[in-house]
Amino acid sequence: MTLWWSGVGEPSFVFDVGPFPPGNILTTPVQTGGPAGCALAYGLVHSPKKPKVLLLEAGGKNADPNFRVDGQRWLTFTNPDLNWGYKTTPQARCGDRVLDYSRGIGLGGSSAINFGVFTVGARDDYEEWARIVGDDAFRWESVQARLKRLENFHSTPPAGVSSKYVAPKASDHGSSGPLHVGFPAECETDLVPLLDAFEQAGYPLNPDHNSGNPIGMSLLISSSHKGQRSTAQDLLVPCPENLTILTESPVQRVLLQGEKAVGVEANGKRYFASKEVILSAGALDTPRILMHSGIGPKEQLEQHGIPVVRDVPAIGRGLRDHAFCPLVHTRTENSTGRAGFYGEQAVMDAALEEWKKHGTGPWAKFATMMGIGFFKLDGLASSAEFKSLPADEQRYLNSETVPHFEIASHFPIHWFLPGFRNEDLNYSCLLVFLYNSQGRGTVTLQSSDPNVPLLFDPKFLEHPFDRRSAIESLREALRFTRTASYAKDTVSTLAAPKSDSDEDLLEYWAQTIGSSWHMTGTVKMGKPGDVDCAVDNHFRVMGIEGLRVADMSVVPVLPSCHVQAVACKLPSLSKACWPGGQKLTCTLLGGQISPAPYVLKSWCRNMVLRSRAPSCRNGISGFYGRNNLRDRRRLIKRCLPSHSQHTAPRPC
Ligand SMILES: Cc1cc2nc3c(=O)[nH]c(=O)nc-3n(C[C@H](O)[C@H](O)[C@H](O)COP(=O)(O)OP(=O)(O)OC[C@H]3O[C@@H](n4cnc5c(N)ncnc54)[C@H](O)[C@@H]3O)c2cc1C
Repeated sequence: MTLWWSGVGEPSFVFDVGPFPPGNILTTPVQTGGPAGCALAYGLVHSPKKPKVLLLEAGGKNADPNFRVDGQRWLTFTNPDLNWGYKTTPQARCGDRVLDYSRGIGLGGSSAINFGVFTVGARDDYEEWARIVGDDAFRWESVQARLKRLENFHSTPPAGVSSKYVAPKASDHGSSGPLHVGFPAECETDLVPLLDAFEQAGYPLNPDHNSGNPIGMSLLISSSHKGQRSTAQDLLVPCPENLTILTESPVQRVLLQGEKAVGVEANGKRYFASKEVILSAGALDTPRILMHSGIGPKEQLEQHGIPVVRDVPAIGRGLRDHAFCPLVHTRTENSTGRAGFYGEQAVMDAALEEWKKHGTGPWAKFATMMGIGFFKLDGLASSAEFKSLPADEQRYLNSETVPHFEIASHFPIHWFLPGFRNEDLNYSCLLVFLYNSQGRGTVTLQSSDPNVPLLFDPKFLEHPFDRRSAIESLREALRFTRTASYAKDTVSTLAAPKSDSDEDLLEYWAQTIGSSWHMTGTVKMGKPGDVDCAVDNHFRVMGIEGLRVADMSVVPVLPSCHVQAVACKLPSLSKACWPGGQKLTCTLLGGQISPAPYVLKSWCRNMVLRSRAPSCRNGISGFYGRNNLRDRRRLIKRCLPSHSQHTAPRPC
């Protein structure tokens, strides 16, 4: 995703683009449509100055309402039209398995194919983020305030669930934002008994996992409402006048003039920026666009014949992700209602008709509600692997609100286990999530063709701490399945480790591990001078003027949650990303006027001519220093006397 904005803040000029033949010239912001990009567009188009925004998305419109069936949220990612279809490289510690590494394509991005788990993470994640980048804007209080503006939380819990499992405080949530989140009207029969089982087994309860402290067992908040999944696309409905969305427009590269971004190229068309370019193509594709623009690790670029504009070794390093494995048991016949629904095609078909008419019925109930628990591991801190971590990391992992692993219930695994038998449909599936990965994966170039994906190597289980954490998390989850409160309904084991020895637990992870698709950190944010960082706390690509990245690739911590909420709130985290938040020094393009192309061509001619003047050492962009507004105004007056009546580009 790529974004330009114009007409606000200190202007940059479309007619700075002498070397580029004018293709499509726009003075508008441009971006693509994942959660971060949609949220960014939402923030921009509704900001006080109402700049025009152009959103470029590689995929389609994702407009089919049938993609929104709440109970089928687990299946959309299997639709190849909605998925880039990425895979990892063979994972050395996971039996050389190649793992699914899905990313959504089309409006809504991965939020259009994700599982609807809506979790915001731990207060201490954001405190750590603020520490790493040296900016209080990333501290929890500020983040929570911004999230509340985005969220429309429907707090009524499903019928029959006790307030000990769900009692969110209104002050922790937003109620008027565009993103609908909450609970389904009813939940499956075995959900409350499962929560009871956790309580009886001595696990802490948490009445709201989105309060800033996720620790404990909770009822899941989902990105859905009234039987319908929400996606980030909803932020842009109705489409505001000042937003233009172009789908089927994959961006191949950023257009640069020297070390300044002036636009992007998408399928042979060039779009020139009047202000800035912002990439939000996600953690796997933003690095691809940067590298094919000549911004990335020098050796890789040279190996593929891409001229190096800026050597940034950090780009493509630092990939982090969560991973999970399942524990599956068949359960007593009356303890779940799943066989009666999933086992009967006619029942499912009738339910779909009901959903289409009213948005209600079994498709608004089955697999829409989970128990979700975030827990600490008592013994982890005393392990040798923990003790060999850097002191800051140990402190972070020991902080009050950071969980060491997660258990989520009610995952409909029968859709994914080949040969799953109908008679086993009364089952329980618990997913065990591995958190706080210390491994650092890579995304690397494999071709000089910008349409070829990068190679993705998350390096699952390669770090000793990750293996220790995987072993202890799974051991703890197994312990739970053996407690009387859970085991009383277990009939047989469908998927579990052979024993709870370290070797068997690790082997089970290796054989069953899956990515949680929470990729972060491939264009990491940090302080200027940090060698592992590529963008600063204002999302600016360090060393490149007019280029920002605002998506999960910049996040410098691996948040303790399923991360779509983080992606959505990202763009609001820096005032610099909100035109309304910037001090307006001058609006040279007369507000958000798009000059007619013929006027721009004349401007370009004039500016190129001007750039040859002896006083202009580095061409136009060199001539315009950031603080050289008076010179810019003078130059424009000299260059544009005869065009000002067409375009009203009056200096203020
Ligand atoms: C199967 C699956 C299940 C998930 N489940 C959950 C969940 O339950 N809860 C949760 O919180 N998170 C979940 N996630 C993760 C979450 O959806 C992502 O972390 C989040 O969407 C990332 O947002 P983003 O804006 O950074 O990137 P993305 O959502 O990946 O969006 C990037 C956008 O950029 C577009 N794009 C890419 N390259 C280009 C290009 N060259 N030109 C133009 N456009 C381009 C893409 O098509 C896409 O629209 C899941 C993800 C997947 C894949």
